[in-house]
Amino acid sequence: MVYKRSSQLFAEAEKVIPGGVNSPVRAFKAVGGTPIFVKSAKGAYLYDEDGNRLIDYINSWGPMILGHAYEPVVQAVIEKAKLGTSFGMPTELETQIAALAVSMVSNIDKIRFVNSGTEACMSAVRLARGFAKKDKIIKFAGCYHGHSDSFLIQAGSGAITFGSPNSPGVTAGTAKDTLLATYNDLENVAALIEANKNEIAAIIVEPVAGNMGCIPPNKGFLEGLRQMCTDNDILLIFDEVMTGFRLAAGGVQELLNVNADIVCFGKVIGGGLPVGAFGARAEIMNYLAPLGPVYQAGTLSGNPLAMAAGLAMLQALDSDRAIFQRLKEKTAYLAAGIDKVLKANNVTFTINTIGSMISVHFDATPVVDFQTAAKGDNETFKKFFHGLLEEGIYIAPSAYETWFITDALTYEDLDFTIRAIDKVSKTF
Ligand SMILES: *Cc1c(COP(=O)(O)O)cnc(C)c1O
Repeated sequence: MVYKRSSQLFAEAEKVIPGGVNSPVRAFKAVGGTPIFVKSAKGAYLYDEDGNRLIDYINSWGPMILGHAYEPVVQAVIEKAKLGTSFGMPTELETQIAALAVSMVSNIDKIRFVNSGTEACMSAVRLARGFAKKDKIIKFAGCYHGHSDSFLIQAGSGAITFGSPNSPGVTAGTAKDTLLATYNDLENVAALIEANKNEIAAIIVEPVAGNMGCIPPNKGFLEGLRQMCTDNDILLIFDEVMTGFRLAAGGVQELLNVNADIVCFGKVIGGGLPVGAFGARAEIMNYLAPLGPVYQAGTLSGNPLAMAAGLAMLQALDSDRAIFQRLKEKTAYLAAGIDKVLKANNVTFTINTIGSMISVHFDATPVVDFQTAAKGDNETFKKFFHGLLEEGIYIAPSAYETWFITDALTYEDLDFTIRAIDKVSKTF
């Protein structure tokens, strides 16, 4: 494959955009080389500026669950654009998508729309603190909740400690209110709660972790968190930015039958436009301005184009619930195929999967938390990534990312991918 025009475009981008990208995960820092510039996409495929076709396993990091340029979403956006693209005033559309979202997700009465997953998580935590009248939160090492200050806190090795910021610009004052726990480790959480009695407003967690590869919760982990939160007057926040409307119509709350107090959304809920949202029981949501004291706002929140795209997406999912089963079957098929060829080629690996999320780790240890995820062999991953790219398959340019299966992928695409992985893993 030739990536001539992409590299030229990247060189031009680097002059005027830091690192040439508007979000660091797009750069090829972890794998070497330069990013691919996309010209267009349709269904399961990306078409780049050099004319290459790539099977896409990132799908905009999750939103495109029905494939790229999904016709009803595209039409909804075109029709709305003709009527004006932003008013800063209420529209009926906002109520329609809110009502549909609330009907699909259990345990939320009201929902507020924002512009990104980051904004959703940041606002959810502020709401939780305001409602609980406490300052501290617990987050898990390796879980990503967007780039707002409270979440950019690094894992200490023992983890039962105050976090230290992992980005300059995040103050020690902010970091001291974020406590770090180990994913899938209830004892660790219990110790943090014990050491910070009556100070913890909320526990925020990816109920299925998707930002250190795909790490499903151990049996009992979410139930345990739920119980500890109830016992200690702590709000449980599920960050379902990745899993919401993906693993089930009602997200992980439905899939694993555990209820959170506040749920954050993003990605799929916007149908590929910039949307985030957070929802909860009325009692909690009524704490938000203008009804309550917790301030939260946005000029472009509930933007008509974004709401039109999101509504068309949720309607498609709501009216075809079998999709979640179809996606799960495709993912299982792919996982079984990869398992077979990697074993045949004597590669050391672990595959994690749940629903339409899958990750391949080049290490034999079960991957259950940040520490075990970080053990993966990055050199093998680099060969894997570039080898697949050469075969016309695009996975995330980092060993710690989940692949997303879309409804647009055919079994031929999956077979093609498995054959490519067979070929590439022979060169390790
Ligand atoms: C992507 C993601 C976010 C951040 O969403 P943005 O729209 O990128 O700000 C937050 N939480 C989780 C779990 C995510 O996967």
